[in-house]
Amino acid sequence: MKTIGILGGMSAASTMTYYRTLCDLTRARLGGLHSPQLLIRSLDFAPIAAWQADGDWDAAAALLNTEAQALQRGGAEVLVLAANTMHKLVEPMMAGVTIPLLHIADVTAEAIRAAGFRKPGLMATAFTMEQSFYTDRLRSAGLAQVVPGAEDRAETHRIIYDELCRDIITDASRSAYEAIAGRLVVAGADCLILGCTEIGMLLNAGNVSVPVFDTLVIHCEAALEMALR
Ligand code: GLU
Repeated sequence: MKTIGILGGMSAASTMTYYRTLCDLTRARLGGLHSPQLLIRSLDFAPIAAWQADGDWDAAAALLNTEAQALQRGGAEVLVLAANTMHKLVEPMMAGVTIPLLHIADVTAEAIRAAGFRKPGLMATAFTMEQSFYTDRLRSAGLAQVVPGAEDRAETHRIIYDELCRDIITDASRSAYEAIAGRLVVAGADCLILGCTEIGMLLNAGNVSVPVFDTLVIHCEAALEMALR
């Protein structure tokens, strides 16, 4: 089994779920006492979120590059960047890194196409929903995503940073997310991408009327697959 390097802490709330999910998937797949070989680098999200808000992406890219190189030196053989938003920076992050990166948008698009869907609703941070680094990637995989309206994008983003990344789960925000997902379905979405690794804290197959593609779970499944190949 290859060692998976997880570059996480963005946020810690979802990195904990990556660890749990990878352990559960490995046990289900291999049985017995098997567990995944992991190197988890969990960063302090406060300065990173401040750089995001200020648009100082160069500072964030430099940090991710340093940390990706450290994971490689530490023995990681596959790299998982445990957040959707920070995939904006994969190019500078991977400078000088030779181990493969498992891109979260690519494995998600592949899972959606394999299941026969083409028009996913996308709930994510404003960066992921509004900038082209993610939506272009989905489009070039043959998908035509539906993005929430301006107010719903702002509310989705606010709940991620004010609550989910701080491990706060409320019924009010769950209802707000269910309503936003519902409006995406009315707008024509045939499935829903949980395009932020914290959104699974509020939405799942049980409270969304179309099939749900949780990027965190898909990312973990693909990472394990790669580690066992
Ligand atoms: N974990 C998040 C994501 O998947 C949001 C936090 C961040 O900006 O990294 O996009």
